[in-house]
Amino acid sequence: MSTGHAGAVHVLVVEDEPKMAALLCRGLQEEGLVADVAPTGEQALAHAAHPAYDVIVLDVMLPDLDGLEVCRRLRSRSVRTPVLMLTARQTVHARVAGLDAGADDYLLKPFSFEELLARLRALIRRGSIERPTVLQVGDLRLDPAKHRVWRGEAEVSLTAKEFMMLHTFMLRPGQVLTRELLLDHAWDLAYERGSNVVDVYVRSLREKLDRPFGVTSLETVRGVGYRLLSEPK
Ligand code: CA
Repeated sequence: MSTGHAGAVHVLVVEDEPKMAALLCRGLQEEGLVADVAPTGEQALAHAAHPAYDVIVLDVMLPDLDGLEVCRRLRSRSVRTPVLMLTARQTVHARVAGLDAGADDYLLKPFSFEELLARLRALIRRGSIERPTVLQVGDLRLDPAKHRVWRGEAEVSLTAKEFMMLHTFMLRPGQVLTRELLLDHAWDLAYERGSNVVDVYVRSLREKLDRPFGVTSLETVRGVGYRLLSEPK
């Protein structure tokens, strides 16, 4: 699926039923998209705020917050990522409720995968109009829409996770970010959580963004976390 810009399309699938979630992810991945799963409303809120997602597929029936509430909270936090709501056919007034909550479109279960793809394509096209602009911290630049990063004029290739972590830093230049905050904001899946996963990704960011350029921009704040310096040393 092409959206007219470089880089993969990122989809957040919010669905608690493992089979359904796996089916959706596999289908999306076969189409060349990058898909992550959030199995609860709370996890959806933690991850969906990240602007790297191009579109969110949001099931209404979730174990904690329902999809409508998730959508309402996202919109109240000014998260404008397009949302495609999945609703059961028996849900009364599902469409009105979903759109009232701030969803951009809805799909009744059961649906065909082709139809889901068609709706996603339409939402991604629409969503790409009001993209955030390029972030800049020192001579680091990050384009959230195109998933591209530069140090000065040199483009640096990052993995999806390195990109999400750098994006989290670049939204908060000069601030000390704890490992906990980085996990909450920059992680797409709970699975990979471990005591040193943040340190591992900070190290790989340094290898790509600092070392080749002979600068230090990601600083360790002992016992607390890490800070992206507004001007590299
Ligand atoms: Ca569900």
